[in-house]
Amino acid sequence: MGLIVQKFGGSSVATPDRIRNVARIITDTYQKGSQVVVILSAMGDTTDDLIALANEINPNGSRREMDMLLSTGEQVSVALCAMCIEGMGFPVVSLTGWQAGMETNSSYGSARIKRLDKDRIERELDQRRIVLLAGFQGVNSFGDITTLGRGGSDTSAVAVAATLHADLCQIYTDVDGVYTADPRMVKEARKLDEITFDEMLELASLGAQVLHNRSVEMAKRYNVHLEVLSSFSGKPGTKVKEVVKNVEKMMVSGVALDPNVARIAVLGLDDCPGVAFRIFSQLAKAGVNVDIILQSTSRDNKKDISFTVEKVDRDKSVQVLEENRERIGFSSLEVDDSVAKVSIVGAGMQHNPGVAARMFEALSNSQVNIHMISTSEIKVSVLIDACNAERAVQAIHDKFFG
Ligand code: ASP
Ligand code: MG
Repeated sequence: MGLIVQKFGGSSVATPDRIRNVARIITDTYQKGSQVVVILSAMGDTTDDLIALANEINPNGSRREMDMLLSTGEQVSVALCAMCIEGMGFPVVSLTGWQAGMETNSSYGSARIKRLDKDRIERELDQRRIVLLAGFQGVNSFGDITTLGRGGSDTSAVAVAATLHADLCQIYTDVDGVYTADPRMVKEARKLDEITFDEMLELASLGAQVLHNRSVEMAKRYNVHLEVLSSFSGKPGTKVKEVVKNVEKMMVSGVALDPNVARIAVLGLDDCPGVAFRIFSQLAKAGVNVDIILQSTSRDNKKDISFTVEKVDRDKSVQVLEENRERIGFSSLEVDDSVAKVSIVGAGMQHNPGVAARMFEALSNSQVNIHMISTSEIKVSVLIDACNAERAVQAIHDKFFG
């Protein structure tokens, strides 16, 4: 009962059979008496294929035209799924982002949702229709089509759920929930019944690719109850919400691996005030997101600062630092790409001392050297050599969940 928002990812609608399967899930929910708004992604690899096609025509096509192109993938999905539901005899309507009033800013390719004008969706729901909405897309103030960034239809779904005050927002995908580690890497990984928004945010930004980060941030802000589940298994998934029952007992909820990091070391800096400011303000100006930062102790009045960035930002970071070499005052740079970040996340670690030590013990037992460490209230991350990453994840998982 109530209003349920369901989102189905690309793999869930990849073939006609899968679209039929999704249509059954949707109409089952509808038949139980709920109002249903559905957000769909593009079928299978459609978005990747469209990008490849664009690159063949013109690799320097404008971002406006790119969004024009990419938004078609989701449109195909909603139209086909609507036809399927029509065929099953249910009232249904499909809508594009702009028909549904999904207003965004003009950052083509990574647009931010400004507001959702809910009139149209509500009118359709009042007619007892199932509403299918093309995810990942919106319209800017010029009336041009925008997209929200790769994986953005999760964010579309949460925005719709928040605006319509939905009772539940179900994110259907090809895994049946959030696991204690990537089940493809750690075979003993197990599914979590529940996880907090904060843990999910950490896991998402740490490379556990279950939910789009922005969707979790938005869900937390508007307290949208999320459930991640599989469109194939029919089993209950993982609930994502503000507080979960077992926080204190579960010290650690999951182990995440992020291979998408590069380490940059700035060597031979003067040990005086303002050095860190000069480095990181220049990087910030260039839009580079810095993650772990480590400063060495001073020797002969010189010190080193190393930090990590996403791999895509590596060259830009080096360029910015080189351009400001005089101002910052360093002797050389060292760049290392063959690193990975492994993290444990758990709201329960706030109340349990010794969690970090157990993680380090697992790494020490498996002879993995740690280059950098960073911690927050609910997370401990280490930077290690990429070649050790899978072994490290397994060892840490064994330690906490074995
Ligand atoms: N189709 C888009 C993508 O592949 C959006 C999404 O799937 O969420 O990134
Ligand atoms: Mg996707």
